Amino acid sequence: MQSQGAGRRRIPLHTKILFGLLAGASAGVVSNTLWRDAPALGWAVENVAQPVGQIFLRMLFMIVVPLVFTSLTLGVAGLGDLRRVGRIGAKTLGFFLFTTAIAALLGLTLVNLVAPGETLDPGVRSALLQTYAPEAAQRVGEAAAARFGINTIVSVVPRNPLEAAAGGDMLGLIFFALVFGLALTRLPKDAAAPVLRVLEGIGKAVGVMIGFAMRLAPVGVAGLIFAVTARFGFDVVRSLGLYVVMVLVGLAIHQFGVIPSLARALAGVDARTFFRRIRALMVTAFSTSSSNATLPTTLRTAEYEFGVPREVAGFVLPLGATMNMNGTALFEGVTVLFLAQVFGVDLSLGSQVIVLIMAVLTAIGAAGVPSGSIPLLVLVLEMVGVPGEGIALVLGVDRILDMARTVPNVTGDLLTSLVVTRSERLPFRVPVPEEALELAPAEAATPAPTLAAE
Ligand code: ASP
Repeated sequence: MQSQGAGRRRIPLHTKILFGLLAGASAGVVSNTLWRDAPALGWAVENVAQPVGQIFLRMLFMIVVPLVFTSLTLGVAGLGDLRRVGRIGAKTLGFFLFTTAIAALLGLTLVNLVAPGETLDPGVRSALLQTYAPEAAQRVGEAAAARFGINTIVSVVPRNPLEAAAGGDMLGLIFFALVFGLALTRLPKDAAAPVLRVLEGIGKAVGVMIGFAMRLAPVGVAGLIFAVTARFGFDVVRSLGLYVVMVLVGLAIHQFGVIPSLARALAGVDARTFFRRIRALMVTAFSTSSSNATLPTTLRTAEYEFGVPREVAGFVLPLGATMNMNGTALFEGVTVLFLAQVFGVDLSLGSQVIVLIMAVLTAIGAAGVPSGSIPLLVLVLEMVGVPGEGIALVLGVDRILDMARTVPNVTGDLLTSLVVTRSERLPFRVPVPEEALELAPAEAATPAPTLAAE
């Protein structure tokens, strides 16, 4: 492999992605202000910005199935005996629940203090309800189809793993990969070795593909963000200002207060180091609004920026992308209470406890895709007696909130991988630079950094 960037100054990828984000957003807002109703703007969004963004997104999604399968199987197989898988698994799930519950509680506390739902202008309320009524009706239908029950648990076990993979049933795929990995640990060494070798080869090839996809990121991100801002501008956002600001403030407290404190206390990583190393991760999550699409970047960040051992990253992060959503839990708590306030439904402390529990459960059940939590949100609304159509009010601003909540979603996953590694007393070892893919070429040329000063 050629040495990267020797003698030449190269702009690191995360800086390029950030440029893409800013350029796309400012171009979008300016176009929305100047040419909102011009057909040419609609044409540019449909035929240029959207396709460019979609190609980038689809490249990432294309990688998800082989990535989840190989990394989870190798992760479990690498963890070795059953007792270790059990212990790490229990720690991982326990920590997922713990951080998700903190986030939901934070959201509920804020919304009780500020009560944004009581301030919404009635005119704005009915205009929003009208605009988004058809979409809301469709989501209510989806929610009815996704009722919680014993079947939710039964259907985690897929009938057919290929069908699960092809249909985007991530929990089914994860279940199969976990059981397959466990089975490999039970085989005699010489029977398991060739399978593991093949999976490792696939895993490496997938890693290279991630590098290809990430090269598209600066342009792809610009396209995605332009499409949103050029269409919607900041108008709707302003109408629901207080609610939006509250969700964003809650997410920011969690992202920049709670998570780094836990990282410091439980993994010994100081906040500056932590945030410096997760820049690309945050930007990718923000611009794709999808934990699944961000998974390649999360894995890469854990291994190459923090030195999380591959078997831990491969086990914790794919599970986290599907199950651990701190930002989503916070958002759900706030939104249910906000809509209850809007519709004048008085929620007792008991109902709020139900909202808290449901926010955590639905965050676990939500798919790590854009707006993955919306169908489940409808369920919670109806459970506590708020009309499900109420989501029509918030759908208009969901895009920006979705982008924002996905950031703590994936940061929480990364944090869990650090905490599990530390608590298992495993070494943090950044792989040798040659192996480091082109995620951050300029940095790959310099010696790998060690973990925070402790
Ligand atoms: N977009 C979120 C994620 O992928 C899920 C959601 O809250 O809708 O993490």
